[in-house]
Amino acid sequence: MAEFLRFEEITKTFGDLRAVDNVSLSVNKGEFFSLLGPSGCGKTTLLRLTAGFEQPDSGRIYLNGQDITNLPPHKRKVNTIFQNYALFPHLSVWENIAFGLRVAKRPMREIKDEVARMLSLIQMTEQAQKKPAQLSGGQKQRVAIARALINKPQVLLLDEPLAALDLKLRQRMLIELDLIHDEVGITFLYVTHDQGEAMSLSDRIAVMHLGKIEQIGAPAQLYEAPRNSFVAAFIGDTNFFEGRVAGKASGDYSKLNIEGFPDVLCFNDKQINEGELVYLSVRPEKFRVSRDKPEGNGLHNVVPGRVEDVVYLGTHTKYWVRVQDYRISVYQQHSRFLLDEKTIRWNDDVWVSWHADDGFMLEYYSESDEKLMELPPEGVGSLSAPPEGRTEEA
Ligand code: ATP
Repeated sequence: MAEFLRFEEITKTFGDLRAVDNVSLSVNKGEFFSLLGPSGCGKTTLLRLTAGFEQPDSGRIYLNGQDITNLPPHKRKVNTIFQNYALFPHLSVWENIAFGLRVAKRPMREIKDEVARMLSLIQMTEQAQKKPAQLSGGQKQRVAIARALINKPQVLLLDEPLAALDLKLRQRMLIELDLIHDEVGITFLYVTHDQGEAMSLSDRIAVMHLGKIEQIGAPAQLYEAPRNSFVAAFIGDTNFFEGRVAGKASGDYSKLNIEGFPDVLCFNDKQINEGELVYLSVRPEKFRVSRDKPEGNGLHNVVPGRVEDVVYLGTHTKYWVRVQDYRISVYQQHSRFLLDEKTIRWNDDVWVSWHADDGFMLEYYSESDEKLMELPPEGVGSLSAPPEGRTEEA
């Protein structure tokens, strides 16, 4: 896919604050690309820089090969969708959608055809004569999207467009947004702090933190191979353990010392050296709990623990298992293959096991030698202790 929108070493400060800190990134043509991160990480600022509502202190922005860094907003072929719809309250749905073409003084024939096409795209042909006040939040947002798309922008910028909707509507709009994107083939740059939204919609995601990009990748890549502890904790839930690399095992595996655990085996794709401190991250669904000690095949880690909590959730059960200082969170599917004959209950002694490939060693210190993350007293990661700055409002 061709690179279409490119940010080159963009920095934007507000007083002493580096809201966007030397960000370089490329978005491909037709891509659904999300900027994801906690409140204040700089994602909206990057979007506003793209729209031309802000000017960078340094760096360049290119759209379709053209340097747009200094172009005023109306000269950029981008349109922005805001959280609060920004529709004209006194105009009908039809007039709201037609607005851009009317301003551009397009012929009436063309306006009628295009508005009809847009109404059909957002499935609101029947509501064409309604005023915004007569619409639901989701419908208003669909009108806002149609009103932006009718101008045929090269990039559609979406700033938390679903944040004002209730959960049910948000879920429906997620599907609709996906369909609209497939239908129109325009590049979408989408800002959100909601990892579920970003994961379900995006071709690729840039995870941002404190004005910088922590990692760019497809949703599965970020989830399965997070580059650092921030990404591991921000995307999905995970358990963190503090350990020290104790030496090589066979192949690309290393042994890890975690206090009170038997030697833990872990895939060491980052070639972390013996003696170094690391965080081991293991997702809750990668563990298995069982009453009987599993046999294992040499690459399985098995530790004894005691069940402290059991929550039945229909599709799976969530267990909290105490192993030494850690309260491990485990999701277990209800499959006969996986479940023990006898139900596992609170206070049972169990075995917690996981495959060496399902644990990730993540760096402990940042480049400036600062510890990257304080583990909470219970030792468990994002479920009980989101990294600094993460919002829980999603
Ligand atoms: P949110 O989801 O809360 O909008 P965000 O990741 O989009 O967060 P930005 O809005 O880009 O974050 O803000 C990044 C930082 O820059 C924040 O600390 C914010 O307070 C600051 N900031 C943004 N705009 C301005 C401004 N016009 N003047 C001063 N500071 C600003």
